Amino acid sequence: MASISSEDDFQIMCNIHRETLSMLPPVLHGGPLTTRNLSRDSKAEFTMIGHRFENVKDFKEALCDLAVKHNFNFRFIKNDRDRVTMTCADEDCQWRVHASRNGNLPTFRIKTAQHEHTCGGGINTPFYPRASKKWVSRKVVMKLRDRPLYRAVDIQRDILHDHGVCLPYKQAWMGKELARRILLGSDVASYDLLVWYVAKVSETNPGSIVIIDTDEERFKCGFFCFRASLDGFKRGCRPMLFLDGTHLLGKYGGILLGATAKDGNEGFFHLAFAIVDNETDDNWTWFTSTLGDAIYGNDDYTNIITFISDRSKGLVNAIAKVFPLAPHAYCLRHLHANFLKSNGQLGKSLKDECWSLIMKIAYSCTSFKYDEVVCSLLATSGQAHHWMFQKSDMSHWCNYLFRGQR
Ligand SMILES: [Zn+2]
Repeated sequence: MASISSEDDFQIMCNIHRETLSMLPPVLHGGPLTTRNLSRDSKAEFTMIGHRFENVKDFKEALCDLAVKHNFNFRFIKNDRDRVTMTCADEDCQWRVHASRNGNLPTFRIKTAQHEHTCGGGINTPFYPRASKKWVSRKVVMKLRDRPLYRAVDIQRDILHDHGVCLPYKQAWMGKELARRILLGSDVASYDLLVWYVAKVSETNPGSIVIIDTDEERFKCGFFCFRASLDGFKRGCRPMLFLDGTHLLGKYGGILLGATAKDGNEGFFHLAFAIVDNETDDNWTWFTSTLGDAIYGNDDYTNIITFISDRSKGLVNAIAKVFPLAPHAYCLRHLHANFLKSNGQLGKSLKDECWSLIMKIAYSCTSFKYDEVVCSLLATSGQAHHWMFQKSDMSHWCNYLFRGQR
């Protein structure tokens, strides 16, 4: 298990956490990344005697770049921390490079070099023996850091474009996984760190609620609500919470559930999140009841909260069960998607027309306005009118019929 013990590392983790609030903290290994080791194609032609490298690792990586660039393979004659000698993989070829350490310094210097391939150079096959997954990971790690959704097919395309190497999909995928590990640490070690994380949150953020549930020592679910978020919600936000879930795309999958409020500047204000295995009735009930305990636990908050969400059954049931007095509004974006799906045969322009009327109904505050638009919708499409009254639970999204304060 990797350990993160210094105050600085913990501060970095907290900062990352504050910025993203919707992610588990990544594991940091061995200090900040530099670009020095990660992109050095321009220096690949280095076989000059006297050429110096930061260390033996740099030397070997540069040689791999060279071997990929000219598509040849090499073998090690000597390979230790003080001396490295390589020759072409073709036994009759004269190509050879020897480098060694500079006294007691870590730097490596080329001492002898014969950089003509008497074998002709290049192995003339579409396979690049030195384009290993490690090599791929070095080439893509910075791109992956900027674009976490960078895919293996993107790697295949970019490596072909930048280096002329046609990578098999599996090789690209393995390179990406290795780069992910360099950036984020191993997934398994991250789960290990959760126990440490819970202890640290209690120590440094008293009043926060962080709960990790395990199933025979395996992570089952986790709930996270920081004291600052809780105070900010109670003191500075309207009593209104948006609830939703989204899939986690990591190796072990799972669902991220979130409760988000709106602050005085109409910005998102994250209150709490949880990680569960699936969007089930039980998990939504657990999340909402833990959230309820967090908000109402100290008796200092008595507002009735209005919830806004999609119409997923587990969530709707959980809110009705855990917060029986709370008004529950349906998100219009999700309702729109549902309307389009259920009324596919209406045709695009008619659907658009009906939806704009439904929007007017959603925002109607008086009975006069409400009746007027409902009549227009009936005249435009009987089917849309029927869907609205029979299938959409209007009391959850129409202003005029919605219960609770507005
Ligand atoms: Zn050769």
